[in-house]
Amino acid sequence: MKFLLVTSKAYYTILESLRYLNRLSKGFNMKAKICKRCGRCCRTTPPSLLEEDIGLVGPVFDFGDLYTIREGETVWDNLEDKLIVSPYELIKIKETADGECIFYNHNSKSCTIYDSRPLQCREFYCTDPSDFFKAFEKPKLTRAKIFSGNNILKLIEEHERQCNHTLLDSTIKSIETDGDSAVEKIIRMLRYDYEIRILANSRLNIDQTYMDLLFGRPLSSAIKYYGLLLRQEGNSFYLTLSPDYQKAPS
Ligand code: SF4
Ligand code: SF4
Repeated sequence: MKFLLVTSKAYYTILESLRYLNRLSKGFNMKAKICKRCGRCCRTTPPSLLEEDIGLVGPVFDFGDLYTIREGETVWDNLEDKLIVSPYELIKIKETADGECIFYNHNSKSCTIYDSRPLQCREFYCTDPSDFFKAFEKPKLTRAKIFSGNNILKLIEEHERQCNHTLLDSTIKSIETDGDSAVEKIIRMLRYDYEIRILANSRLNIDQTYMDLLFGRPLSSAIKYYGLLLRQEGNSFYLTLSPDYQKAPS
């Protein structure tokens, strides 16, 4: 079995996305807080939630509407066509397959939760995004805040301990030196991440649509950025090279 180890990928911080918003704002060439309601921001940059938005979780957002980007997670930024690494945990509104906010209505070109939209949406004006940048610096909403005092948080913490993204990254990078033992470790992490979602659903009756908020997006999809693929045959898991792996531009 062969493995591809990616050591020279271009890593960028989440600030790269903010630079995109800067450019979006320049396109309008104005310095006033004006919104023409073209929907461009909703179609390209769905927001993350801040602590101040916590009151919206429940009344406005079902857990199934949200997902978690975990600290250290490598994500593909469609806007920049680059990989970025999140330096912190973010709770985000889910996107459609085209990357649009799920609350954006194409026909009416409007937000279906406009009066209850989160702070980042309220503060964003492409003509002058200064308030948005200030809002982005505010304390971010986390799973610890949402599930504070709930036993689910213990499950989340144990999952984070067993298979966090920093551990995944360092273990993948150690394949070259540690060989099979590193591969076994990665498969254990991927398996744990896979099984906890099934058990949470079957044993604890937690809705399947909540899993990406509770445990982030599946680790099996995160490894594609390293050129790896998890293959399952019955009860066995194999790590292989992804046939359609495309190395990120550096
Ligand atoms: S803030 Fe700008 S990009 Fe967003 S809907 Fe308004 S005009 Fe369009
Ligand atoms: S919540 Fe509403 S305003 Fe915010 S990105 Fe989604 S559709 Fe746009």
